[in-house]
Amino acid sequence: MNVKWAELTGPEIAELAETTDVAVLPFGSLEMHGPHLPVSTDALIAEFVCAEAARIEPAVVLPVLRYTPAPSMKAYPGTISLPTRLITTIFEAVCDEAARNGFKKIVIFSGHGGCEVTADLRERWLEKRSKGMVDYSVFCVFISDAIGEENAKAFDGHGGAMETSWAMAAAPELVKVNRVEEPGPIIQPELPGVSYADYWIKQVPYGYKNDPRKADAARGKEMLKSAADYLADAVKKIKGFEITPSAT
Ligand SMILES: [Zn+2]
Repeated sequence: MNVKWAELTGPEIAELAETTDVAVLPFGSLEMHGPHLPVSTDALIAEFVCAEAARIEPAVVLPVLRYTPAPSMKAYPGTISLPTRLITTIFEAVCDEAARNGFKKIVIFSGHGGCEVTADLRERWLEKRSKGMVDYSVFCVFISDAIGEENAKAFDGHGGAMETSWAMAAAPELVKVNRVEEPGPIIQPELPGVSYADYWIKQVPYGYKNDPRKADAARGKEMLKSAADYLADAVKKIKGFEITPSAT
């Protein structure tokens, strides 16, 4: 069954809204991930997990949002980082539109860590709800939770072997591990205990951490499958939630 909003006809979407009230919204980023992964790696992975999850537990999958804030990666080529407030406005408008089409529970799935958009969105939703202006709910799931505690602990950083393994599962044709010549150097902070804005470019000069050459496609597939199971389970439980009426 095709679950992707962008590939369905209008009547098919309307039919789907009769059978499920959940829309899943994947989001990622456009930021450098070393010389071996596409800049949209987070988005490709999020889209893949959402599509798998929606096949297990029926839901519609909204088009992935690639434009997000990624300010810490601006020092690298290929990054497009847009202002948080602008992107929150887009997210909010997409949620409003999904709800207007009958999907009253929107599950945002993030393949992109450390994004302020979800917190900002929640604040705006609460503000609107206090004025009786919303008739839907928003939920957030992060890939770092979906992969499970053990995998999260073993995560070897941006563009490292684990993320490269996921990319190999989600979009193998776009992964170029042979372009990695050596493990990514991690330069120690010049001022330990003092954080500074150019952390990334100083400590991770090639835009990836650790050794992506240790990536394993089969392991990546396994991890994304368990992330999809986790998300499907969340969607199933969310279907059982009753939306509390908006305050008037
Ligand atoms: Zn990433």
